[in-house]
Parts: sequence; structure tokens; C-alpha cells
Amino acid sequence: ARVTRLGPSPTGFIHLGNLYGAFVDERLAHQSEGVFYLRIEDTDDKRYVEGAVETIIDSLDFFGIRFDEGATKEGEVGAYGPYHQSQRAEIYHVFVRELVEEDMAYPCFLTEDEIAAIRQQQEDAKEMTGIYGKYAKYRDITPEEAEEKIKAGMPYVMRLKSDGKPGEEATAITVEDGIRGTLTMPENFQDVVILKTNGIPTYHFAHVVDDHLMRTTHVVRGEEWLSTLPVHVELFNKLGFELPVYCHTAQLMKIGEDGNKRKLSKRKDPELALDYYRQAGYHPQAVREYLLTILNSNYEEWRKENPDSDADEFEFTMEKMSNSGALFDINKLNDVSKDTLVRISAADLYDFLKEWAEKYRPEILSYITEDREYMLKILDLGRDGNKPRKDFITAGQMFDFVSYFFDDFFKIEDEIPQEVTKEDAKAILEGYLATYDHNDDQSGWFEKIRTMAAEMGYAAKPKDYKKHPEEYKGHVGHVSTVIRIAVMGRSQSPDVWEIQQILGEERTVARIKAFKD
Ligand code: GLU
Repeated sequence: ARVTRLGPSPTGFIHLGNLYGAFVDERLAHQSEGVFYLRIEDTDDKRYVEGAVETIIDSLDFFGIRFDEGATKEGEVGAYGPYHQSQRAEIYHVFVRELVEEDMAYPCFLTEDEIAAIRQQQEDAKEMTGIYGKYAKYRDITPEEAEEKIKAGMPYVMRLKSDGKPGEEATAITVEDGIRGTLTMPENFQDVVILKTNGIPTYHFAHVVDDHLMRTTHVVRGEEWLSTLPVHVELFNKLGFELPVYCHTAQLMKIGEDGNKRKLSKRKDPELALDYYRQAGYHPQAVREYLLTILNSNYEEWRKENPDSDADEFEFTMEKMSNSGALFDINKLNDVSKDTLVRISAADLYDFLKEWAEKYRPEILSYITEDREYMLKILDLGRDGNKPRKDFITAGQMFDFVSYFFDDFFKIEDEIPQEVTKEDAKAILEGYLATYDHNDDQSGWFEKIRTMAAEMGYAAKPKDYKKHPEEYKGHVGHVSTVIRIAVMGRSQSPDVWEIQQILGEERTVARIKAFKD
């Protein structure tokens, strides 16, 4: 069984990349009956935002990500906590002390000015020179000297005493990445900071200690961490911990304005924020399905073969993940969303729409809840059959698409076809009303329209009209469009007869009368 974790920093911004990673974690753990836990990486208190942890849990939960352990909705769960790094200071200190005792770490008293100078030097030289990096000034400090400085109140950080050699002398290390296969890279040679002046660990140190103590078997994280992997490998080795399987996922990319691939950016791309999808009313299932299509190249094929299966039944594998940049395409998401919504039952769509409206469009809520049965019929309209209609992508569109079912929203939005004169339109509606019988079945109903159209000089078929335009005014479709507009206000809609059945006789007749006059 695999143990995976998500380690977000509570910065208040939760993005698609987090969900993407969480999805891999969740599949890896749950496909092996393992454990997926949430660890809050809140070591950077400058970036901490009030309520951010709740937002992380809530947003991911909305998209179907459940944590077995860690910082969950129900509070801390699991035997290896605390799961907030800010509450683990003493644990980190124990391991730092151990490293110091074994001469693998040391306090470093470089001042801010000294550090700035080193940085500048490095920038000028465009490379890291000197063994162990230039930050290693204090690596041979004696315990007595260190104690003296600490007693004198000098601020210090703790650094790793690296064994690595830089440049040509560097030993190559190989790491088996779960997604990328064998990675070969030069060993680390820098004396990196493991504890900051405030005693808080850096990411490097905290994640190594935590992933070990929390029994993580697979560390799924973004490829931006690849370059510091040698640091982490050295830390695992020095601490005597077994290395977990690192799985570096590709960055989410999109085709930019200039036609080239680029990373999704917080500033330029609103669709990077998870909240974007919630607000617009994307169904979580649709987003999940879409992520699967970018995560595993064989997902779409599987979906075609298993249209009715739960997405969780798909056997996700790391081998089929792309490592060259996962391409995000909102048009594709929209297509997936249409397909997904068709598969969701009207009752589930109803609940989804209602919850969405409660949060994001309360002004339509009463229309949705007033008559649940009515709304269910509306949502089910035209979705069955082997070619179901795919009219909406989001909850927002869902309501707009069917709003003509409510008198408060009903309005005439389209013009009658130009083939039909004003007089004819009136005559069509009068004729329609004269023979209207709400109990007609679909074919009986259409037969009446066909008869009326023929009597008025409209062709029975579009192709007859096309062949002999001089013999006809238009065709039967033009006649029914007039009725369609009177009943729905729109020239495009699902089947008129079905709509009338839902609207009821009274409302249908009233609308036709109103339009006719
Ligand atoms: N706190 C890190 C981040 O937000 C986590 C990286 C990791 O998963 O190890 O990027």
C-alpha cells in the first residue's frame, strides 16, 4: 500500500496544479488501498493567510479529493501528527541536533551583508565557485566558538555540512523517479540552510523529516523541485532515512497568445485558480474527468469503451503520465464537461445547480426550488436517446439555457423566419390554437402542423422547397419555428412538443395568445 501526501502552503491561493497533484496522490494511494494525507506546510508565516487551510480542504473536497489522514475537515486525524509544520518545531530540532552531533550540520553566522555580497559575487561569476559553495565560511567552527557567538546573541542559521564535490569532481547520483524513470544528476555540494534564524526549518529539511516520519512512500510534487532533488537525497542519506519514490509531475502549460506553449500564470490566467471553476459552475466530475485526460493519455479511449463507469474504475498509471508539460486547454475541458453532464442524472444535476445557486447566484434559487418536479423535468429534457443534446458546460449556463420555462425570464429573443410574413405568422398561431389539444401525442401534434403548413402553401420538406422555391413560401420547419418562438422565445430549442408537455397547457396557450396579438 502506498502512502502519499499533499503539502500545500496556506497562501490563500489554491490552483489547478494543486488539484492535479492531489489527484495523482489520491489515485496512487487509493488504487493500492493506501493512505493519502494532507500536511500543511506553513513554515513561512509571512505568506500565511487567515482561513487558508479551510479553503484548501474545502476546495479540494468540492472536487472530490478526500484525505484519509492529516489535517482533515474533522480536524487532525492519524498517528503521525501534528500535520501542521508550524507545530513540529521540536521534532525538527531533534534531528538537527543529531546531525550536529555527527558533524553533519553546523551553525552559520553569516550576516545579511555578507550574504548579499556572496550573492553579488555569484551573479557576477554566473556560477557557484569554491568548494561547498561560498556560504560555507563557518563549516569548521568549533563548538566553543559557536557557543560564544550564540551567547553573544548573534543570529544564526543551521546549515547542512555537505559531502558533495562541485563541478568536475562531483559524483553522479541516480534516482528512480516514479514518472520520469532513472534520473542522473550531480550530487549536492552546497551547505544549504536547514533551519532559519527563527528556528523554523526550510522546505528542504521539513519535508524530508516529515515524509520520513509520516511514512510517505511516494512524494508527488511539481517539477520545479527537480533541481533541488540532490539536496533532498543527501538529507535523506545523512539522516539515515530510506528515500521515498519521488514523482515529479509536469507543469501545467497552455498555448499562449503568441501560439507558443507557456506555463499557466497566476497573473495572466484566471483559470489557474480553482475557484474559477467553482464560480462558473463547472461540475466537479467534469473537472476530474478532464484532469484524467491530461494525466493519462489512454483515459479518453477507456472512457469511450466504458461510458457508464465511474471514473475511479479507470486504472491510472504513472507510466502513462506526460513529463514534457501537461497541456491545459479550456475548450477541451468544455467538451468534456458537456459529455459529463449528459451522463449525470437529473436529480444529481438538480442538487448541483441548487448548491451552486445558493453560493453564486442566490437570485435564481427560488425558481429552482419552487417546484422540484418541474425543474427535474426541465433538466431531463432532450438528454436521453442515443444522441443526447449537449447544451451546457456549467451550472451558470444550465439555468440560462432553460430560463424560458419561467415566466419571469421568458422573453422573445429571436425573430420569426423571413420566409414567414407577419400575416402568416398570425394565421399560423391562430390555426395552431384552433386545433390545439394538449393531449395530442407527438406524432398527432406534428401531423396537425404539417397539414396546416401544406394548406398555407409551405413545402412538406426543406428539400422540396429548395428545389421549387417558386411553388412554396417556405417549408414546414419555418412554420414550426414560429410556434417555437411563441412558446419559448427562441428559434433554437429542444423538441417543442416535449417543452409544451412540461410547460403545461395553460402556460403554452397563454404564450401563444400573447405573441399572436
Ligand atoms: N509546500 C510545497 C509547495 O507548496 C510542497 C511541495 C511538495 O509537495 O513537496 O510547493
